Amino acid sequence: MASQLHFLLVPFMSQSHLIPFTHLAKLLASHGASAVVILTPLNAARYNMVIDQANASNLKIQFHIIPFPCLQAGLPEGCENLDTLPSLEYLPNFYAASNMLKEPLEEWLSQLEAKPSCIICDVCLPWTSSIASKFNIPRVVFHGISCFTLFCSHNIALSKVRESVTSMTKPFVVLDLPDRIEFTKAQLPDALKQDSKGWSDVLDQFKKAELSAQGVLVNSFEELEMLYVKGYEKVVKKVWCVGPLSLHDKLFLNKFGIDGDDNASIHDDSECFNFLNSRKPCSVIYVCFGSMSRFTTSLLKELAMGLEASNHAFIWVIGKKVCSQELEEWLAEENFEERNKGKGVLIRGWAPQVKILSHPAIGGFLTHCGWNSTLEAVAAGVPMITWPMFAEQFFNEKLIVQVLNIGVRVGIEVGVGNMETEHVLVKKEDVEKAIDKIMDQGVEGEQRRNRALELKEMTHKAVEEGGSSSSNCKLFLQHVMGQIHN
Ligand code: UDP
Repeated sequence: MASQLHFLLVPFMSQSHLIPFTHLAKLLASHGASAVVILTPLNAARYNMVIDQANASNLKIQFHIIPFPCLQAGLPEGCENLDTLPSLEYLPNFYAASNMLKEPLEEWLSQLEAKPSCIICDVCLPWTSSIASKFNIPRVVFHGISCFTLFCSHNIALSKVRESVTSMTKPFVVLDLPDRIEFTKAQLPDALKQDSKGWSDVLDQFKKAELSAQGVLVNSFEELEMLYVKGYEKVVKKVWCVGPLSLHDKLFLNKFGIDGDDNASIHDDSECFNFLNSRKPCSVIYVCFGSMSRFTTSLLKELAMGLEASNHAFIWVIGKKVCSQELEEWLAEENFEERNKGKGVLIRGWAPQVKILSHPAIGGFLTHCGWNSTLEAVAAGVPMITWPMFAEQFFNEKLIVQVLNIGVRVGIEVGVGNMETEHVLVKKEDVEKAIDKIMDQGVEGEQRRNRALELKEMTHKAVEEGGSSSSNCKLFLQHVMGQIHN
């Protein structure tokens, strides 16, 4: 049935968007559909394992490559992914370059004899709606965030918090939610808290593109946040929760005996996995802050000292970011790795996160609460220590700690206005305390671990044949089929 369907996927060029988008392409193709993903040269090179995997398993996936107009947008050459931005000052240029993809995409589509059956577009690329209208192609939006975030944000915007709440630090309750959820303005993403016309225009464009789409695909699953899915269903035309896409992908790769994360800089026989294999179940803390976070060296030192002071083993992913040279110097001066030999392992570069999280030795995840990382931990049954910083990460923290009861806060009260974290203070003692709490062997810790294991089971059921996400995927395909036959 789905073999008649041809999807065009248009992601925003950032790791946390490209990962679920490419997983989605594989999911749709595993139902027999064909999928073309729009990528830029550097991102296509990074993700070419997707094409190898598709070839190895007879999936119909292709990339259509459009040059990223770095120079026209005032970006350094080769700056094609959000994680390659030299500094945050370039963020507006990056958005401008993303918007310039419209024209070449439109031109390419106009030359195609057979138009796609459906465009699946990133919420950050609202211009895709005018392309879909021009060529009369059904369009849905893909959300790589939770329905909890979507519904909370919607209600916060409706209640005009931007104008009505003056204090940055005084908590306010979000109206009309299934749970009592409080935020301060300082924890909200800029678009929800700033009065500037620029932000409200951006938000309006996103909202318009979302509301005019035929529906939204969400990388979540119903059982995780049922009441919030129901709430959000009242906002948009249709919601299909089809996640966690990382788990679909893991099962798919297992089925074809494909080793997944070719991006990763370490492999099964590395120090990291030898270390994990030598540890007792649930005894190691995994620390990773996603693909974009940038820390000051002083903050990283507090983290390092907190990890060292705790009584638990750790794996700490140090990205290749702005302050890593300074951090490296400190680590070397302190002889940190030598001192922590046998207790901790540092990973430089890209870690195979999904694989690490599913190792039985992992007992907790210190995370920045990116949605992909959150879902990956849920799917692995790992409780979390939450260290949110920006974007929708405080929403995810509240879901993890207050609604799902599978997390402990490190204690951040205020978000950073951007991706640099110079104003956020976490002390060594906070890290140590949070680790002790998440690894606690008493009743509270045990309840948290059991709850995480229950959710893991629910996650696996959701993606199995007959499970909610698997059924929603079929319903989505039927919906698109219905469009081409009308
Ligand atoms: N990730 C990874 N290895 C790393 C760092 C990140 O595999 O060393 C993956 C992680 O598994 C997740 C994604 O990158 O799928 C990060 O997305 P998330 O939404 O958690 O955070 P963001 O990068 O948007 O801050």
